[in-house]
This record gives sequence, C-alpha cells and structure tokens, in this order.
Amino acid sequence: MIPQNASRRSFIRTFSAGIGIVIVNPSLTLGCMNHSQTKKLGIALVGLGGYSGGQLAPALQETKNCYLAGIVSGTPSKIKDWQERYNIPEANCYDYENFDEIAKNPAIDIVYVVLPPSMHMEYTIRAAKAGKHVICEKPMAMNAAECAEMIAACKAAGRMLSIGYRLHFEPHNMEMMRLGQQKIYGKVRNIDTANGFSYGGDPGAWRLKKAMGGGPLMDMGIYSIQGSRYTTGEEPALVTAKEINTDNPLFKEVEETLSFELEFPGGTIAKGETSFSRNYSYLRADAETGKFGIEPSYGYGGQAGKTPAGSMNFPQVNQQALQIDDFAQCIIQKKPTRVPGEMGMRDMKVIDTIFRSVRSGKREAVF
Ligand code: NAD
Repeated sequence: MIPQNASRRSFIRTFSAGIGIVIVNPSLTLGCMNHSQTKKLGIALVGLGGYSGGQLAPALQETKNCYLAGIVSGTPSKIKDWQERYNIPEANCYDYENFDEIAKNPAIDIVYVVLPPSMHMEYTIRAAKAGKHVICEKPMAMNAAECAEMIAACKAAGRMLSIGYRLHFEPHNMEMMRLGQQKIYGKVRNIDTANGFSYGGDPGAWRLKKAMGGGPLMDMGIYSIQGSRYTTGEEPALVTAKEINTDNPLFKEVEETLSFELEFPGGTIAKGETSFSRNYSYLRADAETGKFGIEPSYGYGGQAGKTPAGSMNFPQVNQQALQIDDFAQCIIQKKPTRVPGEMGMRDMKVIDTIFRSVRSGKREAVF
C-alpha cells in the first residue's frame, strides 16, 4: 500500500523503479538458467490449473528474486508436461500424498497454494509445517476462522504468509488507494463497484460448488470488497446483502448474482455487485470535491481510470510478477508483506458477514 504521506511524484518514482525491475529482468532471468548460482528463492506451485498455467508460471519467468523451482499436482501427465516446459527437476515434483516431503527439499523456499478455496487451509498449514513460506490464493479460505488457523500455523512455524492480491501492485489500483486514503478530493462519500463475468465453463467445476468455495462473491466479489477497503483505508462495520437469482440451472449451489452495501466508520457507503452471469469490472469513488475511478478495474491488465484532473496515465504491468517478486524480497529482507494473511482474513470476515446478511435478510455487523 502506498504510504499515507507519499507524494504523487515519489509514488511514480517508486513505481517506475518497480517497472524497471520487471522490464529489465526477463533478459537477466532467461540468461541465467543455473539457479543454484543465484540467490533467487525457489517457488513451488501447488495446483496446476488455469491460474498457475496461464498467469503464475509465465510471471515466474520474469521475476528476479524468485523462480519456478517445483510443482505439486495429482496428475502425472501434467507434471511431465510442466517439467519439460519449465525445466523442473524430478526431485522438485510432488503429488498431494508425498507433498509433506517438501520439508526436506532446500530448493523450495516458498509454496504457492493455487487450489480451490476449500483446500487452501490444509495446504497452507502443511506447507508451513514443512518450514516453507506461503503465498495463498484468494479467497484465503472458506471463512475467517480458517484464516485464523492458517495465520497461527505460519506464525508457529516462523514463516511468512501472503495472499495473492496482485492489484496492490497495479498502478491504477494503487492510485485509487492514494486518492482515497489521502483524501485528495476530500472524503470519499460513496463507492460503486462491481466485478463479475458470464460463466461459460464446466458445469461440474469447483467454482459452482459451495462446499469447495465456489460462487461469484468468493471468486470475483472479493475484489470489490478489497477495492472498497483500499479506497477508504477503513474496515467496513455494517453489511447488508442480498442474492439475485434466476432459474439458471448452473447456479443450484452458489448465488448467481449478489449485491451488497458496506458501511464504513468514516461514513463512506460502498455499493457492490458480483455475478457469474454479468460482465463488469469497475471501481468508482464519489468524493467531496470530485469523482474518480477505474474501469476496467480488476483484471490482469487493461486498467484505465479518470480523475477530475484527467485520465490516469500509468503503464500496464505484470501484476503477478511484481506481487511474487515483492514477497520474495520481503522474505530476503525480513520485512512485512503489504498483502499478509491478516488482510485475507479481514476480507473473509466481510464475506462471512455478507453471507450472514443474505441468510438473515438484515443489516449485520462485521466481527
Ligand atoms: P482451476 O480449476 O483452473 O485449477 C485448480 C487446480 O486445483 C487444478 O489443477 C486441479 O487439478 C487442482 N485440484 C486439486 N484437487 C482438486 C479438487 N478436489 N477439485 C478441483 N480441483 C482440484 O482453478 P484456478 O482458476 O486456477 O483457481 C485456483 C485458485 O486460484 C483459486 O483460489 C482461485 O480463486 C485463484 N485464482 C486467483 C486469480 C487471481 O487473479 N489472483 C485468478 C484465478 C484464480
């Protein structure tokens, strides 16, 4: 997060330095295949699905503080394919049964959990007990109580825990944090935000299964909760939410669309919506002396924004490379991550409260 007192110039300077790292880095990394001669930390991805294959593995070809050292998968053919594609030695490949043996492997410093949410707690705790630092994907777990157990396990093991909140490294979203938290246009009175897509995937996938942590709120709405929290810099105190369902048979277990209202202690009201049948991605703030916002806001790229001063003019970045590299640097320098487990738990508290409000039909307090 941008420090409260950071000036726009220092933000851009800091940010540009970060970009410099990413732009300069690929040639360095690609030219440096013998990782044992470097001080890069080794990362093992657990779960080789869409996000690992489409985003994280390519991002790990651009990182300078860490690299893709190992993989964990239950599918032998995937392991073989990844080994060939990314030059991963046999000794760094695990399945879900022998995963705990990773404790004996000094080539792996960080375990990155990229499984369905219902599996996040188990693999985070197993990784911490194996002595590894952990990055866990969002949503951090099934509920806030699980998050507390994960945080405690990492603390007990003396390992760092981070959540895959890539937008904290994306300049348009970082600008929303600065404009809102520093009250550049006065106090933010209202936030309007939505994130969703029209689900066209496998009808049997975990994203549609409640017990696996599926549904648009856990998957997409969490970004709107994050957006509201980092634009205000506050934690919501009260939540009102409702589901909007049609008779679409895909959504037997999870909500199709869900709208929520978050009331912040400073008076800001954030209205959010999330859906598996509507395409949108925006974060808009209405402050005392002007409006600012970004649309699209939450994707892997393409962010664009406006303020009363004009268009936001920031470069596109590899969010995942910046996020993972920053965590590796935090470990190396023994400094806290800006996206810790505690942040994941705060979001899960809001999600727990949203579901509670849907069930009760009432305004509920976040606790
Ligand atoms: P996916 O379905 O594409 O991949 C899930 C992986 O988990 C697969 O490799 C699958 O084989 C494995 N798996 C192991 N046991 C399983 C089980 N019992 N049931 C189902 N799958 C099982 O999902 P994904 O899109 O890669 O998402 C994985 C995680 O990453 C989720 O937490 C998701 O929210 C998160 N994610 C984050 C972002 C982001 O932008 N930060 C983007 C996409 C996904």
